[in-house]
Amino acid sequence: MILDDFSLKGKVAVVTGANTGLGQGMCVALAQAGATVAGVARRECTETASLIQKDGGEFTEVLADLSKPESVDLILEKVLSVYGHVDILVNNAGIILREDAINVTAEDWNKVINLNLNMVFLMSQAFARQYIEQGTGGKIVNIASMTSFQGGIRIPAYTSSKSAVLGLTRALANEWASKGINVNAIAPGYMATNNTTQLRDDEKRAGEILERIPAGRWGTPQDVAGAVVFLCSKAADYVHGFTVAVDGGWLAR
Ligand code: NAP
Repeated sequence: MILDDFSLKGKVAVVTGANTGLGQGMCVALAQAGATVAGVARRECTETASLIQKDGGEFTEVLADLSKPESVDLILEKVLSVYGHVDILVNNAGIILREDAINVTAEDWNKVINLNLNMVFLMSQAFARQYIEQGTGGKIVNIASMTSFQGGIRIPAYTSSKSAVLGLTRALANEWASKGINVNAIAPGYMATNNTTQLRDDEKRAGEILERIPAGRWGTPQDVAGAVVFLCSKAADYVHGFTVAVDGGWLAR
């Protein structure tokens, strides 16, 4: 039956940036769909754990700083030592630094590109190797952005990283689809999380943004739940290299 294809029962999912925002929402969604969730974060995921455990779900916290490439192997080793296999990776952790392009420092540029792009590649590569070794295939979902399609304002490194995530998603899908690995992305619109605190605190910008969203509201972590469960499920086995916008219609205007 079709709804059975959306079940993630028996699957082990790793979500980065699991302590808050969209990452927390996706952890809860994947757990509700039946997955065992390992949440990667640089601080404790107490709230995420309790949201999952109160419904009887299984959650393990993996503390790691994703700005460091050596974290990749540590994360995979920890997850395998606890669960023995892995099936799903959601590359969600990301940072945004707002500054006029003319003033952006090389250090800030590199910080954003390193976490939002380089680490997405390294995590994806490590997990794909593991999926191949397991002989199971697997799912990778990258978190892109409206700036995968548009220029954005005062966020040149962020826009560059998220535009590249869209390209990387296609490139990896081309190489790994034949190995039973689905690589796709979700491009959230304007969501009410820490990522947009500065924007939402700016009354004028917040008003302009809201006025342009056809749905008439900012998104929430719950809004990405359906898309992530779908892309991580058997129901999406023939979906490769696509970036799904969950944006209240922003791109449709
Ligand atoms: P958020 O609340 O700022 O979440 C970002 C997550 O990444 C947090 O868990 C953060 O941990 C984690 N992170 C940052 N640096 C890290 C590091 N070095 N090591 C480990 N974890 C690190 O914002 P969000 O909106 O949920 O963002 C999640 C993803 O969605 C990001 O990739 C973002 O670019 C993308 N996105 C957001 C929006 C939006 O409107 N909110 C729109 C499009 C795309 P800390 O809490 O410790 O900082």
